[in-house]
Amino acid sequence: MDKASVTRRYHFSAAHRLHTDRLSEEENWKVFGKCNNPNGHGHNYTLFVTVQGDIDARSGRVVEFDTLDRIVRQTVLERFDHQDLNHDPAFAAWTTTGENLVILIWDLLLAQLPPGRLKKIGLIETRDNYFEYAGPAAQLTGAAQSSHG
Ligand SMILES: [Zn+2]
Repeated sequence: MDKASVTRRYHFSAAHRLHTDRLSEEENWKVFGKCNNPNGHGHNYTLFVTVQGDIDARSGRVVEFDTLDRIVRQTVLERFDHQDLNHDPAFAAWTTTGENLVILIWDLLLAQLPPGRLKKIGLIETRDNYFEYAGPAAQLTGAAQSSHG
């Protein structure tokens, strides 16, 4: 059976402040720049969710968009849209960076989708910032390749 992947795009707006007590005030500013502003700020995030699987012989589809949209809406969008990410319990010990956000969204959706379906999470934070996560297995593959290279 042929396999393919499908990417759906979603939007949410959220506030945050990038700051960690593990770094000094100077280091926070150096690492996070304007995102360290004490007053916080917002982003209009664009989220890409890529799922993979067999193409259904009857529908020609890998996934029902309605089903995927409902899962993403209930699991991610309703949780983060118009919220302050720094107040989300998942970020109690994590900075609200794009890197940590794509991993959290991956974990949240992985728990809702059948095994092997989730392929990649992409997240645009600003015009120039794009973050991507494809699970711990992808990281291991990358590490193995670089260690042999
Ligand atoms: Zn920011």
